[in-house]
This record gives sequence, C-alpha cells and structure tokens, in this order.
Amino acid sequence: MYFHIMTLFPEMVLGGLRTSIIGRAEEKGCISIEAVNIRDHTTDKHKKVDDYTYGGGAGMLMQAQPVYDCWRALDERIAGRKQEQNVQKTRVIYVTPQGEVFSQRKAAELSMEEDLIFLCGHYEGIDERVLDEIVTDYISIGDYVLTGGELPAMVMIDAIARLVPGVLNNGESAQTESHADGLLEYPQYSRPEVWHEKRVPDVLLSGHHANIEKWRLEQALKRTRERRPDMYEAYIREHPVKPSKK
Ligand code: SAM
Repeated sequence: MYFHIMTLFPEMVLGGLRTSIIGRAEEKGCISIEAVNIRDHTTDKHKKVDDYTYGGGAGMLMQAQPVYDCWRALDERIAGRKQEQNVQKTRVIYVTPQGEVFSQRKAAELSMEEDLIFLCGHYEGIDERVLDEIVTDYISIGDYVLTGGELPAMVMIDAIARLVPGVLNNGESAQTESHADGLLEYPQYSRPEVWHEKRVPDVLLSGHHANIEKWRLEQALKRTRERRPDMYEAYIREHPVKPSKK
C-alpha cells in the first residue's frame, strides 16, 4: 500500500512514521510512505504558500495554487504507475477538524485502497476552492483543533498501515485489539507472576484455552461497560446473547 502525504513539513511526518513497526514495514516493502513538499510547487518567487483571508479575520490561509499543482504532479505520477490497471482515481483525504471522526472501522475501509493521498493543512487551513476540486474525504481525528494536519495524518496512517497484511508480525493481534470487534481489549499480564503483591489471574496460568477465552470475553465486556458505556450498548444491541453480569 502506498501512502502519499502533501505537507509543508515532510521531515516531521517521515521522522515520525519511519520509526519502529511502521518504519520496519516500509523497509520490508509491505508499505511505502512518501512526503511531498507543497512549498516546492509554489509559483511565488519568495516561495510563499499562504496569504491573508478575504473578508478579514485572524491568521493566514494556504493558497490554492501550490496545493493544486502539488496534487496534480503527484496524481499524475500515481496514475502513471497504475496505468495498466484501469483503477479508480486515488482518494484524497483532507485531514480537518471539520471532517467525519476517524475510527477503527474507517481505518479498515481505507486499508483496502492501494494508494491514499493525505493533505495536511496549516495556519487557518486551505482555500476552499482547491478543496472542492481535489478532496474526496474530509476526516478529523477528534473534536479539538491542532496547529497542523501532520499529526492527524500520522495517526491515521499508523492505524491504517497496521491493518495491511505483513505489517504486524502476528497477524492475529490486530483482530483481537480494542475496537476491532466493538469491544475494548481485556487486561493483559506478563512476567513475573507476582508483582507488588498482585497475582496474575489463575485462569491465565491454567493452560485451559476455552476458559481463558471465556474469561477474556467477560473482562472485555466488563471493561467496555465501565469505560465506554456507549460502545457497550452498541455491542449488546448487535449481539443477541446477554452476557452474565460480573
Ligand atoms: N480554521 C480551521 C477550522 O476552524 O476548522 C482550523 C485550522 S487548523 C489550526 C490547521 C490545520 O490543522 C487544518 O487545516 C487541518 O489540516 C489540521 N487539523 C487541526 N485539527 C485537526 C483535527 N482535529 N483533525 C484533523 N486535522 C486537524
């Protein structure tokens, strides 16, 4: 899977993403990540990419021209690679606090794409006219405002990339984690068996797989009910068997 990030700060996103598991996945060739600098596409002789907003108001706005030319060069390059495959146009995600809120479900949907372009805004955002022309998806990482789109793009790419086959060593772990099946994950323990006088639950040491699975489901339900009652209600609606109260 190919991730393309349009940004004013390529070193920020590449520094963050080319580390640890996602970085190793790129080295293995499971995914590819590139960051293109929007500033390289400005026609302004002083390399400016922003200007005042019409109608007044605080702050600067990223201008349409550099964003559009950056996207066009990138899109043409991707289309060249896909030429023979007759596939749809590459989705362009504008990361914005005005978008649909990102979720595990959205990550799973986006992980099916071969290419994704992420557009990172800065300052007060981006001229609406270029967004109208190139953006296919508006996605937010939550109801708060950050200074730029780089962190949201990194968050989304991390969540999507770990669903791509081969990125995680243990293919199972992405399926059992919080949110994958509508529940939060059960508590987990590692060595030693006793730490600060707290024992690992006996069932986990029993080697009895059916009992372990049952315990884990009960714990996942309990934890979800306590911490995320909204998720718990939704899960219970979709799963007809009422769990035992614990
Ligand atoms: N003026 C914009 C508004 O009120 O909607 C906010 C602009 S914000 C200061 C600058 C950039 O950060 C945005 O263009 C967007 O790319 C990014 N950004 C900020 N908060 C975000 C969030 N919660 N999710 C995704 N992107 C965000």
